[in-house]
Amino acid sequence: MPELRKDPITFEWVIIAGERKDRPHNFSKAWENGELPPYDKNCPFCPGNEHLTPPEIMALRDGQASTGWLVRVVPNKYPALRIEGSTERVGKGMFDYMDGVGAHEVIIETPIHNARISVLTIEQVQRVLVAYKERILDLQKDTRFLYILVFRNEGKEAGASLHHPHSQLIALPFVPHEVMLEIEGMKRYYAFRERCPFCDMVREEISFGERVVAESPNFLAVEPFASKYPFETLILPKLHHPSFADENECIFEEFASFLREVLARMDKALSNPPYNYTLHNTPLRGHNANDFHWHLEIIPRISTPAGFELGSGIYINTVPPEESARILREVTYGEKELR
Ligand SMILES: [Zn+2]
Ligand SMILES: [Zn+2]
Ligand SMILES: [Zn+2]
Repeated sequence: MPELRKDPITFEWVIIAGERKDRPHNFSKAWENGELPPYDKNCPFCPGNEHLTPPEIMALRDGQASTGWLVRVVPNKYPALRIEGSTERVGKGMFDYMDGVGAHEVIIETPIHNARISVLTIEQVQRVLVAYKERILDLQKDTRFLYILVFRNEGKEAGASLHHPHSQLIALPFVPHEVMLEIEGMKRYYAFRERCPFCDMVREEISFGERVVAESPNFLAVEPFASKYPFETLILPKLHHPSFADENECIFEEFASFLREVLARMDKALSNPPYNYTLHNTPLRGHNANDFHWHLEIIPRISTPAGFELGSGIYINTVPPEESARILREVTYGEKELR
């Protein structure tokens, strides 16, 4: 029986309709991915082609300046927003607008052309997280920016235009709608219960168990109760921390290992699916510590929103989150498969 579920934070309704879809093993469509070489002489992100990107913003090396970079951050050559301009709102009749001010950067995650996060070493994933943190801390000094979104597109179907493993970051002069919905939801929940809904979710999901994908001392991965997409996965710090960028770097090793594990489970269960992940962090200004609990949302792109979803904003999810959680929990993945 299909079910309507209301997201307790955003109050958005989602339709869970498991019987509309074939059995889960049919999701493992072979997303062709494995044929890439480790180096591509035409790739602007491969070592030796540094001149093909705009000048480097930062790079992480293993200590000796003579060795090559391990993680490299550059401005996006084709930015969605530009650093120059003002955030002054301008009105033309009823229409308000402002300059397309922002920053758009690319975090090149490894020199290896054909890697995925799930096959990088923990140390390498940790370097990527450190790069996220350092870029957020640097960009947040610019008072024009109110929000920084870090995101990752894996695979063509997820919007990636280059195969070489990379994340992106966009600094915005406003707080995006999706994040505002969460903040409003958190405030509403807080006003009623005087607790953070994400903190409550951590406790409740651990006690229910059925939607838990993985757990480590400080992190939890769950399939949200009102998941909009099949295999949508949420990674949360168990303790209430509003900002990813304020996390102590000693916790990054655990988070790197945990993120890699969750993505490895997904890669195994769904045969290297295209996916997006976004890091939802607290806005840079104007909010207090109760307003946000940072988290990472992973959405495999194995279903396509159609007319009903676009027209109504109501999603039909054909895989109940309890089922996807069980699949991800039970999938066998081993260190030996993690190269
Ligand atoms: Zn490359
Ligand atoms: Zn919390
Ligand atoms: Zn979120």
